[in-house]
Parts: sequence; C-alpha cells; structure tokens
Amino acid sequence: MKFNIPTAEAKALVEEVGPLLDGPVAATIEEHRRDSKNKPSLEPDGSLAEHVRHLKRSVHRLGAEAGLYAPHVSRTLGGRGSSLRACMYLHEEVFLRGFGGQQWMLGWTDGPSPMVEVATERAIREFVGPLMRAEITTAFAQTEPEAGSDATSMSTVARRSGADWLLTGHKHIITNAPFAEILQVVARTDDGKFGVFLVPEDTPGFSRGPIQQTIMDDGQTGSLTFEDCRIPLDMMLGEPEEKFGVPMRWVNWTKARRAGMCVGLARHCLDRALDYSREREAFGRPIGSFEQVALQISEAYRRTWATRAACDRLLEEIDAADPWEKPNAGTRADFAAIKLMAEECLMEAADVAVQVFGGLGLLKSTGLEHIYRVARNLRIPGGTSEMQRREIARSLGLLRAG
Ligand SMILES: Cc1cc2nc3c(=O)[nH]c(=O)nc-3n(C[C@H](O)[C@H](O)[C@H](O)COP(=O)(O)OP(=O)(O)OC[C@H]3O[C@@H](n4cnc5c(N)ncnc54)[C@H](O)[C@@H]3O)c2cc1C
Repeated sequence: MKFNIPTAEAKALVEEVGPLLDGPVAATIEEHRRDSKNKPSLEPDGSLAEHVRHLKRSVHRLGAEAGLYAPHVSRTLGGRGSSLRACMYLHEEVFLRGFGGQQWMLGWTDGPSPMVEVATERAIREFVGPLMRAEITTAFAQTEPEAGSDATSMSTVARRSGADWLLTGHKHIITNAPFAEILQVVARTDDGKFGVFLVPEDTPGFSRGPIQQTIMDDGQTGSLTFEDCRIPLDMMLGEPEEKFGVPMRWVNWTKARRAGMCVGLARHCLDRALDYSREREAFGRPIGSFEQVALQISEAYRRTWATRAACDRLLEEIDAADPWEKPNAGTRADFAAIKLMAEECLMEAADVAVQVFGGLGLLKSTGLEHIYRVARNLRIPGGTSEMQRREIARSLGLLRAG
C-alpha cells in the first residue's frame, strides 16, 4: 500500500520532524533510559513518576524550540498557522514510532488548543506564551460526575464578584489534572452562559483529588475542586457565551488529532505484525503464510489506508470551512466522522497485532498491549463513539436536538 503525503505543506513538516525525532529527541529518551533503569514509572500514590515527568517536559521543550510543538496555532501567538490536514501527517510521522516518549514533542491534551486564539491580552501574556514555550502544561476541565456527554448540564458555576469571578465546582476524569500549572475550566456563569476560566494552581480554594487510574495505568488523570476560587475577569479564553462555543474548539481539535495519531499507531502495529509474521515460524512455516494470519493483517492495512485517505479529505474540507468560530452541522459531522473512523481503525490494527504476536503480544515488554489499551480508551474521552454517531445523524436531519 502507498502511504503518500499529498501536499507540500505536509511534506515539509514531515521532513522537518524526522531529524528532530532521530536526533535530539531520541538522544534525550536514550539518556533517560540509561539513567532510570529499574525505577518505577509511577509514584506510590499512583501518579506519574517524577523522572518520567522530567523526560516528558524535556521532550515537550524540544518540540517547542523546533516550532513543532503546536504548529496549528496562529503565527501571532507563536505557532505556524499550519492546516489541520498538514498536522495530520506530522502527527502520523511521530506516532509511527509508537509510544516511545517521542510523542511528547507534540502539544496534546496538556498543550495549546485552538481555544488560545480567543485568549484575552492578559491570558496571552500569562498563559498562552508560557504554554507555547512548553514552560507550563494545562488541562481541559469540563467533565463532572453528573455531566459527561451531557456537558451543558454541568453544575460548576462562575459568579461575578466585583472585578473577579468566583468559581465553584468539581471536575473528574481530567487528563493532566495532577500536574497542570494553569487549568482551563469550563463553567456556567450566573446568567446562564458558558465560559473557559484560567485557574493557576496556586489559586486559593483550588485543590486536586487523588489519581483516578485509568485503563492506561499512566498516573495522569484525576479530579479537581474549586471552592470560591477568585479569578480576574480577564483570565479567560474568549467571553462567556450562550452557546457552547469556546469549549467546542478544544473538543473538535481533539477529534481532529485522532486522525494522525490513530493512523500512525495503526501503521506502527501493522508494520510490526507484518515483520513478525515473516520471521515467526509454526508448523515449519512462517505464520504469515497461513491464510488466517495473512488476511487479518491485510484487512487491517486496507482499513488503515482507507481511513487515512478519508481523514485527509475530511480535514481538507474542515480547513476550507471556518472550523472554530461557528462550525456548521456538516463540519461538526466531519470532525465526528474522523474521530469514529480513526479510533475504529486503530482498535482493529492493535487487536490484530496483539493476536499475531500470540503470547508475546500480551507481554508488557512488547509494547503492543499498551497501544491496545490506549485504543480502547480513545473511544470515550473527547466525546464517546455514540455521541459522534449522534452528531453525524443530526447533520443528516435524523435526530432531534437534546
Ligand atoms: C482517560 C480519560 C481521560 C479523560 N480526559 C478528560 C479531560 O481531559 N477533560 C474532560 O473534561 N473530560 C475528560 N474525560 C472524560 C470524558 O470526556 C467523559 O468520560 C466522556 O465524555 C463521557 O462522559 P461520562 O463518562 O459521564 O459518560 P456518560 O455521559 O454518562 O455516558 C455513559 C454512556 O451513555 C452513552 N450516552 C450518553 N448520552 C447518550 C446519547 N444521547 N445517545 C447515545 N448514547 C448516549 C455514552 O455514549 C456512554 O456509552 C476523560 C475520560 C477518560 C476515560
């Protein structure tokens, strides 16, 4: 199968990232591997160990120094204004190498999203600048115990108090909640609008809950509590709005990111399965010569190839629309379709790779079961698969709002 890169913009990003990954990023990871032999990756409280966090920060910074941490962000804020379509190929190139730590050179859930484009001047100075330089990380805190898919039913509230907001509420299952230096908190204002409030970690009334360990066992998810946290009026991303506009920028960016991530990881899994099927022998023959093994691999490649082509087309359409300010039903459905297809593609590829590797596929040391667990996870955060199908059905006029 041919995995061509269709545009000059995407090719340039891919050509630029290769030497960074193979040079400074690989050297930093290798040095960490040598220094951290036999050290556990989690602290006794279940959080990601300090030595791994140190590696993660170092790799973030290598990405930021090279201008490849958040190229989707506008030039005025320190990005490159790269198209989503080109970013897909950058992400694919990074994730083709699996989860070796190199993926941290990309700004992800804990980095800059398109919400930064509507930051106030103060927020640009105190939040966006340090975030773009990877001096700090963030978290996107929307989900609550009683408000997940139905996010607009949230009970976290921001009340006006003189020149400040007073923020009160509780969020859970938030990525990077244990570590984020400044949090992006979605709350309802006392006049019924929705806004994104910036909460520095030293704000009185703010506290973090214990680690909520997920299927990924990575010590990076937790809960957050805000008790009358005083937030200056201009520490916001955008203005409070009746519609759920600014948070949807983050959610839709998450969906778009699935394309390159899932296709890259799927190709990583399948390339490894293919190599293994040629070298591993059973009954005196390479296992790849058994039709059942060959067809599993070839079917998963077919799907990966098709998913990659479809995501490319959809991202091209999204780039040509106005995806952040007021995405129409068609654009929202495009984002939803990308999320669904990309996750299903990775789920199949990871499952096939584990199966082809047999017992070795389930060993932690092989690294494939990790990808399988991540693949299973992806179908819930950023909006469940059911919510994506609902979005597509709605764009066809099939479901009523609500
Ligand atoms: C590892 C991980 C990281 C996460 N990170 C973040 C984060 O950084 N920030 C953040 O804000 N949140 C985060 N989340 C939370 C995540 O976004 C929510 O779990 C998700 O949106 C679903 O909400 P819920 O868990 O409340 O499930 P519910 O909304 O209660 O849904 C339960 C089930 O009902 C289905 N369902 C609900 N409504 C409908 C409907 N109308 N039609 C059909 N089916 C429906 C759902 O699809 C699901 O299968 C994370 C979750 C995980 C697991």
